[in-house]
Amino acid sequence: MLKWIKSLKNKASSSKRSRSEPDAADHHVARHPIRSKAKNKSKNKIKRTTASSTAKNSVSHDVVIFSRGEHCISRDNIDDHALKVLYRLHKSGYHACLVGGAVRDLLLGLTPKDFDVATDATPEQVNKLFRNCRIIGRRFRLAHVHFGRQIIEVATYRANHDLTQSGIQDETGRIVRDNVFGELAEDVWRRDFTANALYYDISDFSVIDFVGGFEDIKQKRLHLIGDVETRYREDPVRMLRALRFSAKLNFEIDQDSKLPIYELGHLLKDIPAARLYEEVLKLFHSGHAVRSFELLLEFDLLQYLFPEADKSIKQDESVKKVLLIAMQSTDNRIKNDMRVTPAFLLAALLWQPVNSRTKEIVDKGMPYSVAIQKVATKILSQQAASVSIPKRFTSTMRDIWGLQTRFHYRAGKRAQSVLEHEKFRAGYDFLCIRAQAVEDAASENLHEDLKRDCEWWTDIQEQSAEQQKSTLFSTPKKRSGNSGKSRRSTTRKKAKKTE
Ligand code: ATP
Ligand code: MG
Repeated sequence: MLKWIKSLKNKASSSKRSRSEPDAADHHVARHPIRSKAKNKSKNKIKRTTASSTAKNSVSHDVVIFSRGEHCISRDNIDDHALKVLYRLHKSGYHACLVGGAVRDLLLGLTPKDFDVATDATPEQVNKLFRNCRIIGRRFRLAHVHFGRQIIEVATYRANHDLTQSGIQDETGRIVRDNVFGELAEDVWRRDFTANALYYDISDFSVIDFVGGFEDIKQKRLHLIGDVETRYREDPVRMLRALRFSAKLNFEIDQDSKLPIYELGHLLKDIPAARLYEEVLKLFHSGHAVRSFELLLEFDLLQYLFPEADKSIKQDESVKKVLLIAMQSTDNRIKNDMRVTPAFLLAALLWQPVNSRTKEIVDKGMPYSVAIQKVATKILSQQAASVSIPKRFTSTMRDIWGLQTRFHYRAGKRAQSVLEHEKFRAGYDFLCIRAQAVEDAASENLHEDLKRDCEWWTDIQEQSAEQQKSTLFSTPKKRSGNSGKSRRSTTRKKAKKTE
């Protein structure tokens, strides 16, 4: 491997020396035959090599190598632990590169979320080099090098083997096992988007580009590598990744990569619910929830993640409004480095289905507090078939939902227990988002109710403990004219009134 890459670079740099004036702009016209037949060669950098892609046929590709002076990636911006891993691999005779989102983000001047390393060392060889290493994964074996809470993921280059071989793909074309190791020139075709397929080589600080990723980053373009349908079938999560990167980076998904998503979205049904949960978190908790959500709706993919939420949006446009405000609030919190819990957006997404079904059974006579728990259990168990939400968050979601009606209490122990509720803040935030969303909704009464609740609970939080005590215990217990009614009928009335 090392020999291969060295000879490639020597050739590239020897031809480069023959150039009188290297022109950085040349690199940006690097073509990738996989997408375009147009040739516009920058002879000093380009070496033709052959690698078979995951597309049906073997094709030859050009590699463009950007030397240190020709790109903006500085080691000052690379995480120290990632550098440590890269250097140790390199010094031990392996080829090691920073790869994926870190290279992309550094080229864009962004701070990478994580630093992934790719190497020709096998996971076992990596394991021998680092005491703090663990091998993980079955479908895709990787080495994780731990530094306290930080993990540097080290992936071995994947080879270009026959993916149709039995046991590697399932009947829909999804790759279920991918552990045949190979070389960088093969690994590149296994990556998803050209922008994610650049390699920063620690041996000489160059960036290796087989697929025109450098130019695509410059053009803010997302292009799936290889035959688009095949690649989405191999891993349908790539469709969600397309939306996520488009939202995060403000990149345009190109036509070829975009159109099949409308047809192939249903393949997400075959993805394990736990993996989809991880993807959902990345979509909604990376500071770009609003745009990600809009794209999920535009490509009609929400139905495969949150079928009930999707139905409720399709039935009632105003549901989308609440959700967009909730997403915006999450984005703002992330921008301001505030804590966010997945339970908040997940509760918002499922609130309408929970609330409308609860109302139906309360109308038939079931007490509200029993009804909401029953409905919550049902909806959460249906939801677990698409995106499985960890239990610690489903219990917070239940709390957020349960609190919505209890915010009608204004006095006494009941109101006090709302104020002291462990999840008060999340419930209150959601209440105010609902109030904001119905601002111009048809139902004046509903708006007034929500607004009044939101204002009252906002005010009480600003009071001292003493003032709170007197507010809660020296005002009339019931909000209006409820005296003489049973507790159950009061609760039921409140439940109906809520939404
Ligand atoms: P982020 O900024 O979210 O970390 P990323 O591009 O680094 O974005 P990761 O999930 O960290 O995404 O993956 C690292 C790299 O591994 C990607 O850039 C891509 O090259 C490759 N990769 C990850 N998931 C897939 C996939 N499903 N199919 C093909 N390649 C993938
Ligand atoms: Mg990453």
